Amino acid sequence: MDLKTERWVGAEALIRWRRPNGELVSPDFFIPYAERHHLINAVTSRVLALLAQDAPLLIRAYPEFFVAINFSASDLCNPTMPDQVQNTLERAGMAPRNLHIEATERVFLGQAEASSNVRAFREMGVAMAIDDFGTGYSGLAYLMSLEMDALKIDKSFIDPIGSNAVTSQVVHHIIELAKSLGLGMVAEGVETAEQAEYLRAHGVQLGQGWYFGKPMAMEALLNALRNVETSAGGAGASYA
Ligand code: MN
Repeated sequence: MDLKTERWVGAEALIRWRRPNGELVSPDFFIPYAERHHLINAVTSRVLALLAQDAPLLIRAYPEFFVAINFSASDLCNPTMPDQVQNTLERAGMAPRNLHIEATERVFLGQAEASSNVRAFREMGVAMAIDDFGTGYSGLAYLMSLEMDALKIDKSFIDPIGSNAVTSQVVHHIIELAKSLGLGMVAEGVETAEQAEYLRAHGVQLGQGWYFGKPMAMEALLNALRNVETSAGGAGASYA
């Protein structure tokens, strides 16, 4: 959600695993497992394949909408990834502006291959965001060395907004840091109107979370977009 215009401008692609018996396996379990067992590239390839399959309808109807996908460390270091991404864009009928790539801070740490891929994605015109910002270990100098488009502010800094907890002040400093580095911002895990209003008033461009919408299947997203389009004008804009 663009906090200023209250338009839906993008969605994060989340993967779910349903066992043949119908049981849902949480990504909190299977993503770290796949990372440990060197299967994460296969999971990411599956996400890209699903994107190529699902995105055409979405992008044809909402040419400015973006989909954000999550990369692990080995995805970001994979030398074939820029080609895979380029290929997905073509098959999905997406322009580079329709795709954002997210990865957590530690993924970028001291990996030369990662920086060259990040450069390749950004040269293509795909926006790069640091996911779950504030939960990693990055120092300021390190952060300044990264060529990024946006920070996604971790939910743990959004939760205390509006409370008297000392931690409720931290988000303010993260916002100032992002501004001084010229980075866009996405607040994660927004659950109340008060949080959304605080973030908007402090210049955070985008928000995501249950306050705006719970995870939904593509068909539900298309329906929801049709409804918001009549009331709020539908998709458009980006981190800018
Ligand atoms: Mn993410």
